[in-house]
Order: sequence, then C-alpha cells, then structure tokens
Amino acid sequence: MKILITGGAGFVGSHLCRKLLEANNDVICMDNFYTGRKQNIADLLNNPHFRLIEGDITLPIEQEGLDQIYNLACPASPPAYQKDPIYTWRTSVFGMNNVLELSRRNGNIPILQASTSEVYGDPLEHPQKESYWGNVNPCGVRSCYDEGKRAAESICMDFFRKYKTPVRIVRIFNTYGPAMDPQDGRVVSNFIVQTLTNQDISMYGDGMQTRSFQYVSDLIKGMIKLMENKAGFTGPVNIGNPGEYTLKQLAEIILEMIPESKSKIVEQKNIREDDPRIRKPDISLAKKMLGWEPEISLTEGLTPTIEYFRKEVVVDRNRKS
Ligand code: NAD
Ligand code: UDP
Repeated sequence: MKILITGGAGFVGSHLCRKLLEANNDVICMDNFYTGRKQNIADLLNNPHFRLIEGDITLPIEQEGLDQIYNLACPASPPAYQKDPIYTWRTSVFGMNNVLELSRRNGNIPILQASTSEVYGDPLEHPQKESYWGNVNPCGVRSCYDEGKRAAESICMDFFRKYKTPVRIVRIFNTYGPAMDPQDGRVVSNFIVQTLTNQDISMYGDGMQTRSFQYVSDLIKGMIKLMENKAGFTGPVNIGNPGEYTLKQLAEIILEMIPESKSKIVEQKNIREDDPRIRKPDISLAKKMLGWEPEISLTEGLTPTIEYFRKEVVVDRNRKS
C-alpha cells in the first residue's frame, strides 16, 4: 500500500514509518519539522519505498494514489504546543479538514487520527472510558491542543456520517521511547536527561499528579490494529498503558535505574496551568474491539529509552564543546 504519514518525522511518526516500511508498504512522510527532527528519519531517506515531503498540513494537500492516511502532525509536548497556540489549533483543525478532504479525493480512503487523552482534560471520572466527555477549560492555555483535538474528532465523525469516510480515532495516552526530542519538555525526557546529567529533577509541584506511561512499540501496534480493523470500527478508542504512577514515583524509578546519578528531586513552584491531576486509560474497548493490550512494563520500556538518551546527551555535549 501507499501510505501517507503526516508528522512522520516526529517521535511517534518515525516509529510508525519504520513499522509500515517493514511490512512492505510505500511510505510518504509529510512534515514541516515544527517539532520533528531530520535525524529521526535520516536512515530512511535512501530507502526507495520512503519519500519525504516537507509540507504543512494547514495548507491544502495534493497527493494521488494513496491507500491510507495516518494523521499525526501536531506538536504534542505542552511547551511546544503552547509556543504558538494559534498555529497548534490551526494544525489540529484546518489540518484535519485538509487530510479528510485528501482522503475523499483519493476515493474515501481510511484515515487514522492521532487524538489524545487530553480530550478528557482534568478528568472527573477515573479511569477514563471513551464514553466520558471530559472536563476541559475551553479558554485556558492548554485548550489550543485539547479543544483542537476535540474539534478534530468532531469533524472526523461528521465526515464519517456525511461521506462514510472510514475514519479511525485513537486517543493516545502518554507515550515515551527512543526518538523523543531530549529538549521537548515532556516529563519522561526531562527526568531522564536531568538524571543522566546530574541536574535537579524538575518535579512540578508536589509530584502527586499521576500519568499512565506507555512504551512506543505498544502504541504503534495499537494504531496499526485500529487502522486495519475489518469491522469498520471508527473509535474513538483509548490506547495507553493502565499502569498509573505519580510523577514522584516516576522520578524515583528513573533515579533507581541510573544509580550513578547525583541528581535530587526538587519541587518546582511553577506548576503548569490546568495540569490534569490524574490520568489512566480504561482499555476494555481496545481489548474487545482490537484484541490489543500493552505488553511492555514501565521499567522494560525505560531501559532502552535511557540508553537512547545516554547517546543523545553525549552527542549534545560534543555539539556544545
Ligand atoms: P512530535 O512533536 O514528536 O511529532 C509531531 C510531528 O508533527 C513533528 O514531526 C512536527 O514537525 C509535525 N508537525 C507539526 N505541525 C505540523 C504541520 N502543521 N504540518 C506538518 N507537520 C507538522 O509529537 P509525537 O509525540 O510524535 O505525537 C504525534 C501525534 O500523536 C500528535 O498528533 C500528538 O498530538 C499525538 N499524541 C501523542 C502523545 C504522546 O505521548 N507522544 C499523546 C497523545 C497524542
Ligand atoms: N512534569 C514535571 N516536570 C517536568 C515536566 C513535566 O513534573 O519537567 C509534570 C507535568 O506537570 C505533568 C506531568 O509531568 O503533570 C506530565 O507532563 P508532560 O509534559 O509529559 O505531559 P502531559 O501529560 O501534561 O501532556
């Protein structure tokens, strides 16, 4: 198949490009490198089945002969999506419209939208089921992302109802692994890089917020299962690891896994605005409809992730010296 992956040079997108190439597909990666990095896909550039298009999904996209679209283009880390919130919103909403139109021009081909657990906001229901409508501040600093993704889900379902476009909506919970940008400000990358470089571990507030962390290979398997499902299942469906940890626990686990570190956990006063206090997916729907559940535990996933960041830190040090 000929598959378009928007945001294919990002953290998740680059893993997806590789997996779909391994399965003998032709992959077109469209990315504007807003948060993505050339190094994530550098080894794919000579592969005759891979093509990079530098492009922006907020603009109409011309591409023929496609069989599937995975829409991942959107900054995902809070500092990155808050840097230019209007652009984040436009990427989510105008971008979604553009890729849905592209699907129609290619004969209404399947399109998978990378949505997020952020649609649940600061949830009042725990764990979060897909039937929960969420608790989102529509005017807050996170809303460019949360409301952008909610609007994207809504237009997907309208295309499905009006044009029968085969949409698939995956609500992704916090995911980590190699290819994350060490500078992108998410908690797993921050804590590991700080621990490897003997800096203070920046715990925002008392660290009692919880998140459920999933290793990237589990996510990729879930996304492909959703795309390939033959039942016409649109989702939305949660794909995440239900293992729930406080941020303090996460910092302690990382410290234990890097025993040579001299870092200490330090409470920061600058708590993020509207930071969700708890998050954990209910994955019964993914189990039932896709036969999917995560296989990699937190410590199993952190091991290769720490090794990846160890190399990144060395490269970064050499670059600076
Ligand atoms: P990322 O920032 O590493 O990747 C996003 C990619 O999209 C980057 O390569 C970026 O350059 C590209 N991009 C951004 N705006 C674009 C535009 N207008 N046109 C073309 N390309 C553009 O983030 P990620 O973690 O790989 O996330 C991928 C997708 O999964 C995102 O849509 C994100 O919202 C979603 N998601 C990720 C997580 C997670 O924990 N990683 C959780 C929930 C949802
Ligand atoms: N966080 C933290 N220190 C950091 C980065 C993040 O304590 O250096 C916290 C943040 O406040 C949030 C959680 O970790 O409660 C997850 O943040 P992340 O940016 O990874 O993703 P989010 O789930 O908020 O989108």
